[in-house]
Amino acid sequence: MRTTAVIIGAGHAGLAMSWCLAERSIDHVVLERGEVANSWRTERWDSLRLLTPNWQSRLPGYGYEGDDSDGFRTMPETIEFIARYASVIAAPVRTHTQVTRVRASGEGYEVVTSQGNWQCDAVVLATGACNVAQVPALAAALPTSIDTLTPVQYRNPGQLADGAVLVVGASASGIQIADEIQRSGRPVTLAVGEHVRVPRMYRDKDIQWWMDAAGVLDERYDAIDDIERARNVPSLQLAGSNERRTIDLNALSAIGVKLIGRLAGINGEKAQFSGSLRNLCALADLKMNRLLDAIDVWATENGLDSEVVAPHRFEATRIEASPPLGIDLSRGAIRTVIWATGFRPDYSWLDVPVLDRKGRVRHDGGVVDAPGLYLMGIPFLRRRKSSLIDGAGDDARDLSAHLASYLDKRAVAPRSSQAVLSR
Ligand SMILES: Cc1cc2nc3c(=O)[nH]c(=O)nc-3n(C[C@H](O)[C@H](O)[C@H](O)COP(=O)(O)OP(=O)(O)OC[C@H]3O[C@@H](n4cnc5c(N)ncnc54)[C@H](O)[C@@H]3O)c2cc1C
Repeated sequence: MRTTAVIIGAGHAGLAMSWCLAERSIDHVVLERGEVANSWRTERWDSLRLLTPNWQSRLPGYGYEGDDSDGFRTMPETIEFIARYASVIAAPVRTHTQVTRVRASGEGYEVVTSQGNWQCDAVVLATGACNVAQVPALAAALPTSIDTLTPVQYRNPGQLADGAVLVVGASASGIQIADEIQRSGRPVTLAVGEHVRVPRMYRDKDIQWWMDAAGVLDERYDAIDDIERARNVPSLQLAGSNERRTIDLNALSAIGVKLIGRLAGINGEKAQFSGSLRNLCALADLKMNRLLDAIDVWATENGLDSEVVAPHRFEATRIEASPPLGIDLSRGAIRTVIWATGFRPDYSWLDVPVLDRKGRVRHDGGVVDAPGLYLMGIPFLRRRKSSLIDGAGDDARDLSAHLASYLDKRAVAPRSSQAVLSR
């Protein structure tokens, strides 16, 4: 089979790109191994709600139309939202089509799938940033009597044995899961590494509203000093709920979650934790206050001070005087460990030499280091908001323009010069 462009993945990123290619009358298909919105259907826990408000799920040619624009979608609502987008834009999605190999072929690419092969000029990798839960190597040393789960496997507390739970990682997934499990009656210890603290509400408005309005989410990848670092910053400690609750470390301590340092090692039956907890929390408090300072300056400059409550600051993170540096894992002290230690993409099927030594795709703002190959949906791809639903539209517009110009140049260029066209 032949087409001009193949988009791999029918999440919101692949669909946004499909809309943009259709606008430009570029013939394409969207190949999806499951159903549309597969990641939301199969890889998320039951109680999860989007941490971005409804108004913030803007996609090209599509947006929120209900009467709760400040609410937070449940998983069924998120799936419905993305599935309806595919249907409204009549995206040419081939579901249950797993891509097993992409390789250079002739002047374009061959895409090998479970439903036959495609030959095309350009490929868009929109397979998601969170395909695999990252588990640290030290997990292998955990006693086999302890159950382990990742956020991709976790569904609800009822899945867990009774008894204490160690949640490792205090970013969005870790804090939400720790909160839910503690409330289920299982005592939770939360191992806290580097994290990004933000309040849900500030000066009567949602923190996402401030970051959107003040242009923080639009910051571009080529205007950031250390983009490698920015791409690896942990997710914000945020959760969506009807009550607009802030779930930070203070809120977790208040319901009885025990805070402990970063998990540093496992030695026999003993888990060892770093002594850096106090410093990491002080740093997160400092960075949160810097963000709030920037928001306050922006509010003043834009004449908002009279419309919202006055600037204020939140209590510093409370840490007990000497948090323990070890836990004895024997005798059932910990029954389950949840590795909320981040996610990574899976490119095991990508047979084009564009991966760096850490397995990440080499790219410049989504233009991959191989002619006609593009990337979507990963953190800070082109903008701070790139991995959010709300970030896909602008990235897809930029990258579809690049893709169209690549095809145009290719149509007129002699074959020998085609290797340099993507630059
Ligand atoms: C727990 C969690 C909570 C999040 N909460 C929010 C939030 O509140 N708001 C927000 O804006 N963002 C949120 N995100 C972030 C964001 O939506 C995700 O990063 C999202 O997965 C990126 O969208 P995507 O379309 O790039 O990828 P995905 O939605 O993961 O879509 C990729 C698609 O590619 C398919 N695929 C993968 N490999 C293949 C293959 N080999 N062949 C064929 N198909 C393939 C998958 O089945 C999937 O359908 C959250 C992410 C996670 C993990």
